[in-house]
Amino acid sequence: MPRIPLDTPLGELHGVGPRFVSKLKKLGITTVRDLLWHFPSRYEDWSSVAKIAELKPGDSRTIRARVEKINVKKAWRRRMLIVEAVIADDSGSIKAIWFNQPYIKNILKPETVANFAGKVAVRDGKPYLSNPAYELADALQETKHTGRLVPIYPETKGLTSKGLRFLTLPILENAEPAEEFLPEETLKVNRLPEINQALKSIHFPTKLSEAESARRRFAFEDLFLLQLNNINLRSTLLKQKAPQIKVNGGRLKELIKGLPFELTASQNKALDEITSDLSARHPMNRLLQGDVGSGKTIVAGLAAVCASEEDYQVALMAPTEILARQHYRTLLKFFGDSGIGIGLLISKEARASYGEGLESAFSKPEVLKELAANRLKIIVGTHALIQSSVKFADLGFIIVDEQHRFGVAQRAALTGARPGAIPHFLSMSATPIPRTLMMTVFGDLDVSLIPELPKGRKEIITKIVAPENRNKAYGFIKGQIQRGRQAFVICPRIEPSEAENEYLLTKEEEKNLEIKSVKEEFDKLSKRIFPDLAVGMLHGKMTAKEKEEVMKKFSAGEIGVLVSTSVVEVGVDVPNATIMMIEGADRFGLSQLYQFRGRVGRGEHQSFCFLFSESGSRSGYLRLNSLLTAKNGFELAEEDLKLRGPGEFLGQEQAGMPDVAMRSLNNLELVKATREAAEEVLRSSPGLREYPRLREKLREFSSDIHLE
Ligand code: ADP
Ligand code: MG
Repeated sequence: MPRIPLDTPLGELHGVGPRFVSKLKKLGITTVRDLLWHFPSRYEDWSSVAKIAELKPGDSRTIRARVEKINVKKAWRRRMLIVEAVIADDSGSIKAIWFNQPYIKNILKPETVANFAGKVAVRDGKPYLSNPAYELADALQETKHTGRLVPIYPETKGLTSKGLRFLTLPILENAEPAEEFLPEETLKVNRLPEINQALKSIHFPTKLSEAESARRRFAFEDLFLLQLNNINLRSTLLKQKAPQIKVNGGRLKELIKGLPFELTASQNKALDEITSDLSARHPMNRLLQGDVGSGKTIVAGLAAVCASEEDYQVALMAPTEILARQHYRTLLKFFGDSGIGIGLLISKEARASYGEGLESAFSKPEVLKELAANRLKIIVGTHALIQSSVKFADLGFIIVDEQHRFGVAQRAALTGARPGAIPHFLSMSATPIPRTLMMTVFGDLDVSLIPELPKGRKEIITKIVAPENRNKAYGFIKGQIQRGRQAFVICPRIEPSEAENEYLLTKEEEKNLEIKSVKEEFDKLSKRIFPDLAVGMLHGKMTAKEKEEVMKKFSAGEIGVLVSTSVVEVGVDVPNATIMMIEGADRFGLSQLYQFRGRVGRGEHQSFCFLFSESGSRSGYLRLNSLLTAKNGFELAEEDLKLRGPGEFLGQEQAGMPDVAMRSLNNLELVKATREAAEEVLRSSPGLREYPRLREKLREFSSDIHLE
């Protein structure tokens, strides 16, 4: 019988009807290949059933037993319902106890046979099963003859693991073999199973260790490709030419001396790394990472001024116009009298300063003309700066806030760069990126780190507010605002109801829920809590103009309390804002909370951050508490990565990043192994000439992932 090609649509297979096909589609499965690459999320082991008589305190084992009796009781001290059952097999009987799940009495009726899995605890000298998981025996019959370890898949409504197992098993046996693309040497050195073996083992392992090593192989694969891709990107860059900008060290010292503060050690180090990159023959591709307020802008500004004094132009791009204006002001404040032409160009505003203490509004065409004539050396703006209407005379250096990458092709296409040369690129980011991500997803970038804040910063007083203290907190906020300070109130989106299953919500619908919560909060605060204060509102559905308007009012102090969605996250600098109040704090990632908090504490006044949380769970509290104890954003980022996975950092839009790889991004051992393997393969076979299949796979991978 001919084998089924991997690209066969499942609908073409005998016995797979259109209803089945549409359900599979919901899981992203259309072809035989998709199905085989739909891996189990875990396995259940119903094979090693223990006897009740063998159970020892502390054991967690599965037993099969018959329910003898079952009752619901009220615990008299704690207000709690307890289900108590006595279950028995042919070796003996044991008590099983569940808390606050009275309905269990209706499922596990006397005489029912079921599997129970749970921990054996002891009370008054007698063992019992505490909160055991159970599965009725007739549901088990089928899983039993499927094998010893039963794969449990990510499911969708109407398509269970059982259904997927029925489909996958025969296909696994009859599909054509997958092509191995990992070099034999790589498999051997890293003790990875061959691809077809791995496929069998991941779906139907004979023991757990076999499934684990299969899983490791698939995770390895993706990270390995990612590493190869990074190495390629780096070497592509090394083949490119950049303007060599030899920074005048004496002049740089002078500029630093002129600052009203001393640079921190890591600011100095970052500056060294950047100026050394600028003077190299190849384009810089560097990420400057540091917490909000750690002083990145001043470092980038110093580098920009030095580059411009060597007669190159520098573009400084911010994600929003507000921030562009802010950066422009910062540059003028520190370097306004250096004699360098510094300009601002955003949609409705153009300004320039030539260092004679004068700074004035220009028309846009004027600023464009000044740029083209090479009289303006540093230009600040949004991304609109690098669109074609803006012509540089000699662009050598691009600095971008909060965008991690800037493709080589993108850079080469800029007007005003020297023919054949690619401008240097520096990205500034306040998003702390964990080490493993740095070594993988961002592995093509060099990194300068500013891990500490300048001396003498006032710490932001952070409190987790218990529900009963809410009014007290409002009172405090009111007092602060009456004294002239300002506050942010951040709302998470409302959780969709059960019916609006989260998975079925579009991005648009999610946004609507977020806006709904902002509106409700706004109504509550403006009408009931702070009726005599100026309360404003900011959310993602407002037009850019409306947002700008609100931010302007907030900056000017005309709004005292700003209720907002997470849009406020991106660096707004309002030094007079001293209160950050976060509703539903447990719904945000730690890094995100950290970013919110960074919006205050920027001025002379003591600042506060209040975290409100509804969940009240111990683990939720501990998680929030790490915000109070962590030394810096990186610690929290590592924590987040562990707790919530890399999706939090990369966003769901990191399309093409396969699941298994996403999950292994926090596996430092694997990340290191894949990097070594990638280096080794490229060393032994430059250009992967000996590995055409790997080369092909890498080409597909590189065009699939969108990491920009
Ligand atoms: P970032 O861009 O990393 O958020 P900024 O460069 O805007 O940080 O710096 C935040 C504030 O700290 C600015 O007002 C800046 O002038 C100031 N600052 C920067 N470096 C230092 C330093 N070494 N000592 C004291 N203040 C500093
Ligand atoms: Mg900044």
